[in-house]
Amino acid sequence: MFIIQSPSHVEGLFFIFAGYLIPDAMPEKDKLDTPVEYLKGVGPARAAVLRSELNIFTFGHLLFYFPFRYIDRTKFASVSQINNDSMWVQLRGRISDFRIIGAGRGKRATAVFSDSTGHIELIWFQGIKWLLNKFKSGQEYILFGKPSYFNGNYNIPHPEVTLPEDNLLIQGGRLQAFYNSTEKLKSKGLDSKSIGKLFIPLLSAVKDDLQENLPDDILNKFKLMPRTEALYNIHLPVNQDLLNRATARLKFEELFLIQLRLLFNKGLRKEKFRGFVFSRVGDYLNNFYHRKLPFELTGAQKRVIREIRTDLGSGKQMNRLLQGDVGSGKTLVALMTMLIALDNGYQACLMAPTEILANQHFATIKKLLDGLSVEVALLTGSVTGSARKPLLDHLAGGIVHILVGTHALIEDKVQFKNLGLVIIDEQHRFGVAQRAGLWKKNVTPPHVLVMTATPIPRTLSMTLYGDLDLSVIDEMPPGRKPVKTVHFYDKDRLKVFGFIRRQIKEGRQVYIVYPIINESEKLDLKDLNDGFESISREFPLPGYAVSMVHGQMNTAVRDFEMQRFVRGETNIMVSTTVIEVGVDIPNASVMVIENAERFGLSQLHQLRGRVGRGSSQSFCILMTKEQLTQEGRKRIQTMVRTTDGFEIAEADLHIRGPGEIHGLRQSGMVNLVIADLVKDEKLLKLARQEAEALLSEDAGLKSEKNQSLAQYFFKTIDLKSGWGLIS
Ligand code: ADP
Ligand code: MG
Repeated sequence: MFIIQSPSHVEGLFFIFAGYLIPDAMPEKDKLDTPVEYLKGVGPARAAVLRSELNIFTFGHLLFYFPFRYIDRTKFASVSQINNDSMWVQLRGRISDFRIIGAGRGKRATAVFSDSTGHIELIWFQGIKWLLNKFKSGQEYILFGKPSYFNGNYNIPHPEVTLPEDNLLIQGGRLQAFYNSTEKLKSKGLDSKSIGKLFIPLLSAVKDDLQENLPDDILNKFKLMPRTEALYNIHLPVNQDLLNRATARLKFEELFLIQLRLLFNKGLRKEKFRGFVFSRVGDYLNNFYHRKLPFELTGAQKRVIREIRTDLGSGKQMNRLLQGDVGSGKTLVALMTMLIALDNGYQACLMAPTEILANQHFATIKKLLDGLSVEVALLTGSVTGSARKPLLDHLAGGIVHILVGTHALIEDKVQFKNLGLVIIDEQHRFGVAQRAGLWKKNVTPPHVLVMTATPIPRTLSMTLYGDLDLSVIDEMPPGRKPVKTVHFYDKDRLKVFGFIRRQIKEGRQVYIVYPIINESEKLDLKDLNDGFESISREFPLPGYAVSMVHGQMNTAVRDFEMQRFVRGETNIMVSTTVIEVGVDIPNASVMVIENAERFGLSQLHQLRGRVGRGSSQSFCILMTKEQLTQEGRKRIQTMVRTTDGFEIAEADLHIRGPGEIHGLRQSGMVNLVIADLVKDEKLLKLARQEAEALLSEDAGLKSEKNQSLAQYFFKTIDLKSGWGLIS
């Protein structure tokens, strides 16, 4: 049914992995594929702007250009009720006192509109001549417009004016839909209202080609409106109730089809891709577990390792997402998984998003494996020339067992003898293409474990990683005290300094972090440098020693400074967010975040995760100015209230919306047409459940009752159609 290229073919992999499937034959042309220029009221010039401005090429694309708002045209207001310049009103009354004022560019026409409750001024800046012939004084009109407030009075600029009988014909007691338009569209006469008018000929042109795509049992179960009716009512709603039902139906459809696609692909991948079977546990894992493991695993770690082992032994390729809050002990799970690969004669690699983090993983793993005969190597952009060549040879020769590195691992020159497992840390920084890039490192794709330290709300992960299996470490290692978080204004700085002094006296170490938006760019480091100077003045030698690191430092200098802090030779580390991820210094007990209002929630949470890693009580101090935006204040309050990463991620999602999380907007994965991952959480869960149930009963969508769905699903799952691009 599908073209599936051999697993070693990267492109084929990429498409399947990315959630796209390529139907073997293009569907028959139907009305929906007609170029939009052939629609009554469009033509070549408007079609060109619809294409360039809105990506609308066909009737089908236009049909899914949904309104963003509706105004109830069944309701009338009265002039005396107007008290707000942001609302649309519909009035019934008479027009009088036409007047032309000014000349040239300032020329405008005014008139007075009155009903039984009062008068309001109408203003036109264009079409003045036409207007004078059009309206009769004393005649009753229906007026629709958006009042604005000027010079102590309300007026209505450019109202829509209709005779009562025409009003019924045009908007016949309906809700009026509003569509987003742009300057370019407007210049071709396509404002919201004209776009809206296109749907009358459009819906009548395509009505015979619209087919139900949800199975009857689902429609009945949730009492969903039939598809054709929903598409009518989303554009031309007759009343609020029908609009609500149309919206619910289309949201469900959108979410359901996304989930179906993710789960279908996952099923297909499991069916088509064999995986290496790691059936045994041998000396590598046993020796580590019995001789080296410095503590007891938490219950959650044990459970997750069991889940992973089941995957590894299944004969199918593992694709698992491991979520766990900062400090929950993911590294250990990663290491033990790698040792299972080694026990079965395979190599493993661990890819981190930054060099610092790769270095840190390398050091941690070396230390944990010390004394065991496991060959661990590090490959980053800084490993070059004479060091690189032998490393690559050892890798290809199978001498290196575990390779830790950055995205340098993906390069073609990096060849393994027998790579069986890929672990990717901090998923959200890598794209799908990079995930796929590691697959081709062996003939059979290696098992993949993706780890993320930033908890992702369930709704988002369901959509973003809906094709991965999920394991969660929801338990912290014992003996951790939650970090105490407090908020201070800049003016209370002296109190904070006093506190820092007392902590240092007790032998603790302190981080002070300054915001820098983009570490990789040559940006002004002024805040940081000023901060470093004032901290050095406040905490002078010889009593105190202060380190500083930032992303634009030479790596050697940075490592040197880092190491001094690690060894406890400096008390304070002044830095940018380069210390955000991974860095593990149990003796550090205070995290001061300067200009905390400028950080996002997940970043604040990551930074706070740098302390509280030892057994003593740790503190996070959020410094801000006094004037905070509402959003900034919410972020700070959330941080003070909770240390639960999942709760923080949920709050982040609600404060910012899904598009802003971890640069997901760019990923294009959350460009939903009508549903909203935050507001429609319940619907999303239902859609997921239904898709799961349907596929578990009918994995290939072959049963009779699923035929309308199958037809639509396989037809629209290509790369070009609007909905095909969603996931
Ligand atoms: P993560 O990568 O999930 O943020 P790490 O793997 O870096 O967390 O672990 C954080 C700290 O907790 C490390 O110092 C690690 O050695 C320690 N740790 C991990 N698992 C346990 C455990 N079961 N018991 C005690 N300490 C643990
Ligand atoms: Mg980690």
